[in-house]
Amino acid sequence: MSEHKFSTNALHAGHDTTVNGGTRAVPIYQSTAYVFDNADHAANLFSLAEFGNIYTRINNPTNDILEQRLAALEGGIASVVASSGTGALNTALLVLLKAGDHIVSSNSLYGGTYNLLSVTLPRLGITTTFVDPSDPANFGKAVQENTRAIFVESLGNPKLDVLDLKAISAEAKAAKVPFIVDNTVATPALLKPIEHGANIVIHSLTKYINGNGTALGGAIIDAGTFDWANGKFPEFTEPSPGYHGLVYHDALGPAAFIAKVRIEGLRDHGACLSPFNAFQIIQGLETLEVRMQKHSENALAIAQWLEDQPEVSWVNYPGLKSSKYYAHAEAYLPNGQSSIVTFGVKGGFESAKKIADETKIFSLLANIGDTKSLIIHPASTTHQQLDDAAQESTGVTKDLIRLSVGLEDVEDLKTDLKQAFATIDKSVLT
Ligand code: PLP
Repeated sequence: MSEHKFSTNALHAGHDTTVNGGTRAVPIYQSTAYVFDNADHAANLFSLAEFGNIYTRINNPTNDILEQRLAALEGGIASVVASSGTGALNTALLVLLKAGDHIVSSNSLYGGTYNLLSVTLPRLGITTTFVDPSDPANFGKAVQENTRAIFVESLGNPKLDVLDLKAISAEAKAAKVPFIVDNTVATPALLKPIEHGANIVIHSLTKYINGNGTALGGAIIDAGTFDWANGKFPEFTEPSPGYHGLVYHDALGPAAFIAKVRIEGLRDHGACLSPFNAFQIIQGLETLEVRMQKHSENALAIAQWLEDQPEVSWVNYPGLKSSKYYAHAEAYLPNGQSSIVTFGVKGGFESAKKIADETKIFSLLANIGDTKSLIIHPASTTHQQLDDAAQESTGVTKDLIRLSVGLEDVEDLKTDLKQAFATIDKSVLT
């Protein structure tokens, strides 16, 4: 299927109707385990002499279709789905890293990821240096002898900085470490990090790929391009005590990492995706391309309109000519810049909180990428646990409102924002 174009793969990749009872829709295989043909078959599956289903924490036929489809859409060799975006990132990092290892990461991240890297992983002895991603050389400068990964979000949430992925991937290549890109906000419909040098792509499927706000999920997609035998990753070139002496690099070649994610990562950390959620996510994935076009069109229209509103002090959307990321957006996101728009309101923290309280169509909640429009005031919610310096570095100011612009009629969305703006204290406007 991967020779087909994006929208064809989004609808068909991975689903062979001749082996799934002829079902046109992808069926849900709601089974925890799979009957072995006989004892030899069971032994062969466990020793990897044969590939096949053992237990749904490790593999499942519905999940397998989603995995094949995501790999085709991102241009990777294989993928593993997980219980959430956070589950996917955690699993990828814990398969790759051990106590004493180090990550160089962009500081422009989703708040939960920032906490994982800055608070939780250090408790396990895995540390991170955060760098300003606007200068790709900062990544190379922060590399240490024990660095084992460079991590970024292709389109930072909520800073909306479009990174120069090609230049950052060159830094990772020089450091001989994998370049891991969270592509949640852009999605492969707008940007394919592997084409720009990413070795591993992470997704929260919870957002645009599901699209309806009905199921959490995550994915790890392997480009199959990283050289695990470069001397820095003995876990892949020496016998694994976690899988009866298997040497991943010798046995699985370019698929060494993604195989280890499935065999050891899902087995030991258990962040597997429910097949029911995989089914829900597949329904969304089928229409991803058209939704991302409409999200982007609506978001740009709202961003342009916000620039003219007296209550608004600044607007950030990479598709705006006024954006400092416009040149990168033209290079990396020429077909649209996704749904998130951030803006500052006069009157700061209190005005921003009030507006978030007063919209009627925009729902006040902590999510992005739903077909419905969403609003949040990060400083009092998602980023509340970060101190001022950490808030600042992740791009969150006190006056910032984040919108995820949905697929409603854009005139209705403007009317909704206008009536919410009308409720703030007028003295701040003068
Ligand atoms: N990555 C990004 C860019 C996100 O915005 C989020 C959640 O908001 C995540 C990862 C985590 O995803 P999940 O909520 O599915 O764990």
